[in-house]
Amino acid sequence: MAPSSIVIIGASLAGAKAAEGLREAGFEGRLTLIGDEHELPYERPPLSKGYLQGKEERGKIFVHPPGWYADQNIDLLLGVAVTGIDRDRRTVARADGHTVAYDALLLTTGAGPRHLPVPGADVDGVLSLRKVSDSERIKSLFGSASRLAFVGGGWIGLEVAAAAREAGVAATIVEMESLPLLRVLGPEVAGVFADLHRDHGVDLRTGARVAGILTDGRRATGVQLADGARVDADAVIVAIGAAPNTELALEAGLDVANGVLVDASLRTSDPNIYAAGDVANAFNPLVGKHIRVEHWDNARRQPKAAARAMLGEQVADDRVPYFFTDQFDLGMEYAGYVEPGGYDSVVVRGELASRKFISFWLADGRVRAGMNVNIWGVNDQIQRLVRSGQRIDPARLADPNTPLEELGA
Ligand SMILES: Cc1cc2nc3c(=O)[nH]c(=O)nc-3n(C[C@H](O)[C@H](O)[C@H](O)COP(=O)(O)OP(=O)(O)OC[C@H]3O[C@@H](n4cnc5c(N)ncnc54)[C@H](O)[C@@H]3O)c2cc1C
Repeated sequence: MAPSSIVIIGASLAGAKAAEGLREAGFEGRLTLIGDEHELPYERPPLSKGYLQGKEERGKIFVHPPGWYADQNIDLLLGVAVTGIDRDRRTVARADGHTVAYDALLLTTGAGPRHLPVPGADVDGVLSLRKVSDSERIKSLFGSASRLAFVGGGWIGLEVAAAAREAGVAATIVEMESLPLLRVLGPEVAGVFADLHRDHGVDLRTGARVAGILTDGRRATGVQLADGARVDADAVIVAIGAAPNTELALEAGLDVANGVLVDASLRTSDPNIYAAGDVANAFNPLVGKHIRVEHWDNARRQPKAAARAMLGEQVADDRVPYFFTDQFDLGMEYAGYVEPGGYDSVVVRGELASRKFISFWLADGRVRAGMNVNIWGVNDQIQRLVRSGQRIDPARLADPNTPLEELGA
């Protein structure tokens, strides 16, 4: 039976897109979107890029304009945490003591920054970046600090370090792997990002482990490395990845493993409860396994698939995962999915050193992922190659004179 009342927990990008998708698909019933942040649903990519750099206005980060939710007859409850799900009664409990009934429930509770498990990590001056207020705090540091230390050379650490350098602040990145982004890009390509940062004056320390946060008793004054070296800094930004917000799902007895487990229609182990966005570990038929994608494009599109499924449509969400980054003068898009060691060759169209190229990760002659760096208008073709699953001649793949349109079916 079609639901007449739908509740969405988590009012960020995925939650807002689910609400949009439900109304677009013709759902006219009661729709409640509950979020514990006080802001209207907003997009996070600008928090480590344009908004952090002061190039993008605050008004531009929101998913929908303020009046949109009322226009769409959506009960938007902000600053309200959900504390529990009663699956038998089909209600959710709010921190303010109220309960809300649902026929169908969607979890879009996202993810939160991983905590650095070393002494001193809780003192003032140790920051992470997830919320707009975090971005504003870091932006204000750009005006007052002369040097910042970053723990973790992943996407967010690299983007914020780039913003710091562009604001004239010295930046040291401490990364435990031998290259930043090694797990995502592999040793063949990850060096591009190491070179990019070093060329822009970032002190990139690889193969370095953090033993503790240095403090003056009140505030962070730097980072102590396991090899005895120390990195002095006015503040420390910890960017060691995010963990899915699965507490509600766990307490409700849903299947959880690296996120809330959902099938290709985004349905959890409870047929009335769905999950999407960063919190969902979803079966992707194209990849042939469950994957949890912590990226903007997934948080925009997957909730719309969940919305259709909640309304009874047969849905199999088999999109090619996609993400992007902007750092200094490098912009890139990446499409596909490759686990560490999940490829046997890398083909490069162009020169890595020029920072204008397309790289492809292949397994058994088939393109599993591709990344276009400072080359635009080609990502749809990359996605088509990934989706086709066909063997592609590596020489033609590498040849810039062979249009990608001519490769694969
Ligand atoms: C700084 C930053 C930069 C990024 N840049 C890029 C980029 O360049 N490219 C890219 O592809 N991706 C990027 N991402 C990733 C992208 O922003 C995320 O994939 C996206 O935000 C996920 O959206 P979501 O709605 O699933 O989860 P979230 O954005 O995490 O939102 C979940 C919401 O649910 C709320 N919530 C959790 N539990 C409860 C509860 N019990 N009750 C009520 N509310 C609750 C949370 O407070 C939060 O508001 C970036 C992320 C960050 C943090």
